[in-house]
Amino acid sequence: MGAQPAAATVGPPSRGGDAGRPPRPSALSDGHGARRGRRRRTAARLRACGPYAARRPARSRRSPGAARRPCAALTAPPARAPQLPRRRPPARPASGAAAAMAEGEPWAPAPGARVCGAHAGRPLELFCEDCGRCVCALCPALGPHRGHSARLLPHAVHHKQELMALCLKDLEERKEQEAGNRRSVEQAANDLKARAIMSKRQLSDKVTELQLLLREEESLAKNFIDEKTQQALEAHDQQLESCQEKLAALETFSHRIRQIQQHSDPVQLLEKYTEIEKEMQEPRRLLEQWHPIPLSFEHILNHYKHFVTVLQSILQKPLEARLKEDVFSSLNATAKKEPGTVLKTMSPVDRLLFLKHARSPTWEYDSLHPRLKLSDDRLVVSCNWRRMFYPCGPQRFDKLWQVLSRDAFLSGSHYWEVDLLHAGAGWWIGAAYPSIGRKGDSETCRLGWNRASWCLKKFDFEYWAFHKGERIPILIEDDPDRIGMFLDYEAGILSFYNVTDGMAHLHTFRCKFTEPVYPALRLWEGSIGICKLT
Ligand SMILES: [Zn+2]
Ligand SMILES: [Zn+2]
Repeated sequence: MGAQPAAATVGPPSRGGDAGRPPRPSALSDGHGARRGRRRRTAARLRACGPYAARRPARSRRSPGAARRPCAALTAPPARAPQLPRRRPPARPASGAAAAMAEGEPWAPAPGARVCGAHAGRPLELFCEDCGRCVCALCPALGPHRGHSARLLPHAVHHKQELMALCLKDLEERKEQEAGNRRSVEQAANDLKARAIMSKRQLSDKVTELQLLLREEESLAKNFIDEKTQQALEAHDQQLESCQEKLAALETFSHRIRQIQQHSDPVQLLEKYTEIEKEMQEPRRLLEQWHPIPLSFEHILNHYKHFVTVLQSILQKPLEARLKEDVFSSLNATAKKEPGTVLKTMSPVDRLLFLKHARSPTWEYDSLHPRLKLSDDRLVVSCNWRRMFYPCGPQRFDKLWQVLSRDAFLSGSHYWEVDLLHAGAGWWIGAAYPSIGRKGDSETCRLGWNRASWCLKKFDFEYWAFHKGERIPILIEDDPDRIGMFLDYEAGILSFYNVTDGMAHLHTFRCKFTEPVYPALRLWEGSIGICKLT
């Protein structure tokens, strides 16, 4: 298919096979089929007449007789065919395939379209496979198609039909595959929506819990105030009682003095006075001033004021920044700060912790360098001994043997592993922003040489962590067969682990991610595969 040389091709390549196809008798039995058959014949005739004839399809279709003349005149350039058949021979011997094709046709074919342009009057009986055109029996022997491989028209038709059936079958398979892809993407989208709804519901639950806690705290604090108030009031009541008693005693004493004071008998007045003289001096000594201690709740108010301030200062920070401080809560609930040190000291790291975030990213064709090729499942990238033909596009790396993944990480935690068993002496694995340069081999394109990429590089038994062109040597005793990469987007962490060596920590890049992060690699030789973890 599509092997026709451009110079000899008359019709569009995809329709080349159709041009030589004879109308099926069954298709001609009804009017519609006949019309279709005629259209097909017309198309065949147009193609046989050369590219010029295609400009006037309406005319040739409406009147086959009118189409005959210009068509015949244009069928063959003068240089190739000096003899121009003006008219079809009245009694053309119907022979071979042509006879079989003409059988049962109610409509006489236009002679100009069915005869060889190079050999006057010879019917088109063969199909030249090399040129993709219908020719006469003489053409492969004597004419311009000498030495070309030719088949009888029905055979050629059968062959092309078989090819088309194969193609259709293949298209069916691809359609099914694509439908499968669509289902997966739809499933992912639905899952995402469901997860978002569930997360919001869980968030509401958490906030409700918080509200309940606050309400409980409010009633606890109020009870505390009530209790203290009650205690103080009881004390005040006792004091009041005692005051009352004292007031009554004072009143009684005043009354006694007043009575003595107004006594008419001087002797009795003086005698009574002497009696209570001692008592009269007493009250001044006994007099005691009460200063009730004021009970204040200021400290409680201060406590809650502080509480509110702390909460405000927490909430003032953007949510993203707060999530960043919580780094690694997804991996280890107790690890709050300094994820880098956590990662380095947490040894051995349990791979199971990471596998909760396991991904199996696949590679993107559109970014793949032509010297790299992908496995059918898009997991393995390997170097190829010759350039592959890929359509050039803005995403494609055209100089560096690099590739990015198809899926990007926009948020959350992700873990993936690469198999380095067949990776050869030099490789680069890591991640990149989509903004990494694709054309040429400048620093903006090289993995690890710019702000848009991070990688672990191996070359000649030496290992380096690379970002912005800065490299940090990494000590690895034995060549790792498998390296795990952990990305926490909000935390701004990209860590590398030697899976083969019990998840030994190799390096952690820390930065604030501002674009989607794509797993990326660059190859020197051999192949690298993403391990299927999901
Ligand atoms: Zn011929
Ligand atoms: Zn040919």
